[in-house]
Amino acid sequence: MEMTGLQIFKYMPAAKKLEHTNCKECGCPTCMVYSLKLAKQQIKLDRCPYVCDELRQIYCQSLKHPQNTVQIGDLKIGGENVLYRHEKTFINPTILAVMVDCSKPDYEDKIKGICEFKYTHVGENFGVDLVILKNSDNKAELSLRAYRRSNPAIINSEQLQSLELNIIEEQDFQTTKDYLIETRRRAILEKDENSSAPVCVVMKNDDIYSQCAKAGFYLCKYANMLVFEEFDADLFSTLITLRHNIFTDPQKTLQVDSGLYKYNNPDENSIIFMTTNFALTYFAVANELENLAVPSYLIIVPADGMSVLTAWSAQTFTPEIVSKFLEELDIKNKIKTRKIIIPGLVSDMIEELNAQCPDFEFVEGTKDASDIGEFVKKLSV
Ligand code: SF4
Repeated sequence: MEMTGLQIFKYMPAAKKLEHTNCKECGCPTCMVYSLKLAKQQIKLDRCPYVCDELRQIYCQSLKHPQNTVQIGDLKIGGENVLYRHEKTFINPTILAVMVDCSKPDYEDKIKGICEFKYTHVGENFGVDLVILKNSDNKAELSLRAYRRSNPAIINSEQLQSLELNIIEEQDFQTTKDYLIETRRRAILEKDENSSAPVCVVMKNDDIYSQCAKAGFYLCKYANMLVFEEFDADLFSTLITLRHNIFTDPQKTLQVDSGLYKYNNPDENSIIFMTTNFALTYFAVANELENLAVPSYLIIVPADGMSVLTAWSAQTFTPEIVSKFLEELDIKNKIKTRKIIIPGLVSDMIEELNAQCPDFEFVEGTKDASDIGEFVKKLSV
């Protein structure tokens, strides 16, 4: 774990009230400033001639990376610094790979299935990350390149072996799980160089339910790559969803781009909805609007990725922000409709919105996205 400025300061002359306290020889006005800069790696350790040996040792140890990063084409694995996501974040998502044995007669069908697989989750498109060709010849590689649409990276089994990975065959669940946890703990807590290589688990070809349960666990703790002998779209969709949850940064909200979204070919008289740019809110509303056989617009207001009520309380979804954004989008000149339907949860804003944006009339919508269909039916009556 990297040291904080305060942790460093405890070892400095100023903290110990020693000679040279705040002597400025390092170019900093005080030992505290030097400590803070050192923690951010903005100054070199040797700029202070009075650093004690104990700090030198602890600091150098703290700078070591617990886990190596390995690059495979555009993919990266490893480089993890923490044991638990909430401590900071996990960095490089576990690679989900399929091994294709090109000596088997059905290998082309398998390649086709892999390349045609596409899975969309929270607005992002995913596919198989990596295909590892076993017993490959040029023909197999050409066929893979011809088929591929979801863009998996390709390597052969010899290239896999040459990567600086710790490749293990899956044993029974308990043994594999214990090995993964122990290896990651040694890498992170002890910075053990023998445990610093990212771990790749070659999965046993069990029934799909066992594979899903075991791979799900290994993905959480702590496989950097999972290699499957067979490709199964349902298994990959499930693991991709889990991976997406584990590897998103808990300090950043999931958000979508603000702007004007269109559903079912709206024209200048179509209805207009409005909400914030929190991804889950957006997808809930967008899904309803898409499925209505009614042309509509959805204005997504930039609100730091917060949900409607949170944004309202945090003042990131205010009449001033809405007014500025409507001007930015030039809604007044682009669309003739003057009514804008806002989420029912913030109906208290309506009066202020109407005062702030006199060109429009704001209307209370539903509190729940699933009620939008019924709401629109009543509007049309
Ligand atoms: Fe403190 Fe060392 Fe800088 Fe002097 S040179 S101010 S002792 S950090």
